[in-house]
Amino acid sequence: MNSEVKYVFVTGGVTSSLGKGIISSSLAKLLQARGFSVTIQKLDPYINIDPGTLNPYEHGECYVTEDGAETDLDLGHYERFSNTRTSQANNVTTGRIYQNVINKERKGDYLGTTVQVIPHITDEIKNSIQQLGQTGKYDFVITEIGGTVGDIESFPFVEAVRQMRWELGDRCAVVHLTLVPYLHAAGELKTKPTQHSVKSLLEQGVQPDIIVCRTEQPLFDGIKQKIAQFCNVSPTAVIESRDAETIYEVPLMMRDELLDIEVLKRTKTPIPEKLDLENWTRFVENLKNPKEEVTIGLVGKYIELKDAYKSINEAFIHGGAVNQTKVKIKRIQSENITPKKAERLLKDLDGILVAPGFGNRGIEGKIESIRFARENKIPFLGICLGMQCAVIEFSRNVLQLKGAHSSEMDPETPFPVIDLMPEQKKVKKLGGTMRLGSYACQIEKDSLSYQAYSRDLVHERHRHRYEFNNDYRQEFVNNGMRLAGVNPEKDLIEIIELKDHPWFVGVQFHPEYSSTVKEPHPLFTAFVKAALKHKKDNQ
Ligand code: GLN
Repeated sequence: MNSEVKYVFVTGGVTSSLGKGIISSSLAKLLQARGFSVTIQKLDPYINIDPGTLNPYEHGECYVTEDGAETDLDLGHYERFSNTRTSQANNVTTGRIYQNVINKERKGDYLGTTVQVIPHITDEIKNSIQQLGQTGKYDFVITEIGGTVGDIESFPFVEAVRQMRWELGDRCAVVHLTLVPYLHAAGELKTKPTQHSVKSLLEQGVQPDIIVCRTEQPLFDGIKQKIAQFCNVSPTAVIESRDAETIYEVPLMMRDELLDIEVLKRTKTPIPEKLDLENWTRFVENLKNPKEEVTIGLVGKYIELKDAYKSINEAFIHGGAVNQTKVKIKRIQSENITPKKAERLLKDLDGILVAPGFGNRGIEGKIESIRFARENKIPFLGICLGMQCAVIEFSRNVLQLKGAHSSEMDPETPFPVIDLMPEQKKVKKLGGTMRLGSYACQIEKDSLSYQAYSRDLVHERHRHRYEFNNDYRQEFVNNGMRLAGVNPEKDLIEIIELKDHPWFVGVQFHPEYSSTVKEPHPLFTAFVKAALKHKKDNQ
């Protein structure tokens, strides 16, 4: 156990969506760049055990870790920034905390005592924070508390922070993120909401050490002084967080504001001289100065929701930057794509991605867009349901299997080319029961995927119940589909490709989850490259 492990808490005030996840990730990046090992954890105050059963309208994308946890999308940012894998332990909800406590109560672990929010719930919260510290792998554990201080739901979490701060002394820092609004009519920045949210934290016994102020306008010194004075922190601990052009600039902005230095000072950690952000800076430069541009159509049913396909958007940013290419994403509502409208909606695209998803809505439009990509030789990437739709399209339009479908959408289909996995047939409960997490995939040597990965064995993350139906394997292969990737343990088809097409790849797994700034996902990099080529060839 690393008894010197330091704990940093990140709370938020005034409103949600201020970017606690990005600030936490940026701090992690800076500490890493100074040579520390860091992990980030998110505590979510809702009662669902995990977001796996939540609709994207409620919660944006559900992110999946290698060990199969269905988690908050902020964990995606943590991995993308820090290039460090997260796990089950990195996202804990109120529901999970209560479930653990209630299970212990039923086992008799608390025999004789009344089980209460304090100390039992707060102890369980503290355990789940310290569990990461006790792995001995990290110098810093950054814990982001979801929600906004003052919410009824987050009280036990803030109380756990209060206790840990008291117990850990100098091994702990509390960073509070607030909003400093600019009132255009008055032409002024206002500190009152920050004062109120710090007051709310103080009422719960927590004095923040560092206040990060989200703002549209620069915070001049007078404002910093004022916040410092009202909130009992030194002016250097008031950090400006201006709106950025891209989230990937935030670590550089936080470096300039010395956020990491403040955390190191507060935790009495000797400050290493070296701060290595060379690769990161190069990445941001590439990102901001692209030489080329491609337009990719993202076909899905949640297109009005910015966060529904978060990891896909970010993976395009990583894959674009290595190609020095700006990837413009045109979100296309799959419900609008009909045989008549397909050409008008899709013809100017340099690539088409059909998104993951569940259920029937918009499914025919997804299939139609794949027909268009296949027939017009437009680079195509299908992810999970997107890959399944490519299988359905091929069976209907190439194999002439009329009415072929996934049994998820049409249980009565005469040709269930996508069918429930055998182990899923007995599943009754919906929470946490999909095929989740990382599984092996053996890749055929001369396939497009092999060219992209330069490896024949990869591990990728999954989240699905349905799967390519192996009864149809031979028919597909005989007609020009390549089954380019297979899971060796269960013989499940993981990757399909088309032989007579420049770049057509469908994957049953989710490559977008594992793309990071440091290691952009090879399939996204290759897809962007193929889109660039398509654009040039068609100019
Ligand atoms: N609905 C499909 C399945 O369960 C695909 C899931 C997905 O796209 N993540 O197999």
